[in-house]
Amino acid sequence: MKLVNEHPESVLQNPDPEKNIDWAARFGNNNPIEIEVGSGKGHFITTLAENNPDKNYVALELQTTAAGIILRTKLEKGLDNLQILRGDAAEINHFFDENSTSVVYLNFSDPWPKSRHEKRRLTYKSFLAKYQQVLKPEGHLEFKTDNSGLYAYSVQSMNNFGMHFDFVSVDLHHEKPEILEKNIETEYEHKFAAKGNPIYALHASFET
Ligand code: SAM
Repeated sequence: MKLVNEHPESVLQNPDPEKNIDWAARFGNNNPIEIEVGSGKGHFITTLAENNPDKNYVALELQTTAAGIILRTKLEKGLDNLQILRGDAAEINHFFDENSTSVVYLNFSDPWPKSRHEKRRLTYKSFLAKYQQVLKPEGHLEFKTDNSGLYAYSVQSMNNFGMHFDFVSVDLHHEKPEILEKNIETEYEHKFAAKGNPIYALHASFET
């Protein structure tokens, strides 16, 4: 996509996993970094970036078209604290230093329901190991989905990995107002909640 290619200062495309990315130089500061894995069209991460100018955000997204949509919003809103990384979450531990990240967000990740595709689920143990690497010891993971199968699988996978849960909800949109007011809807969340589907959510940390 032309727009994406025209803005290398905002979008890193398939960076060489062997080379270190200097995020402080790209952002122009050392503010804490939060990553959304699989941002789609980016309503969640662009809103977070707009609301929290003192934090840095990275949208990690496989697809160029989606990266272009996020980029357009970033440019329109002048979000200097948002970078777009077009790449595969399987390489996240090469894209970020160890202990460098405060939060990893997984929103409405592809469910990959067939058991033979388990390893592709973004909450499979090999992905959890990579999030653990990049997260600071005090960092955490936030996960939302409308898919009960993926939610149940993820709770089990995180539990088996020794993670602990700081928040769980099987109906996020009917939680207390103080929880609801902090929630930023994603595009998928908006669509599924409008159909009346419950939204499942959790916050989890790695044991230190
Ligand atoms: N998070 C958005 C939302 O809630 O509206 C989009 C959800 S969509 C179902 C999943 C997104 O994750 C897609 O945009 C897809 O390209 C991206 N994705 C899937 N696997 C990925 C991977 N391994 N690395 C990076 N992005 C990935």
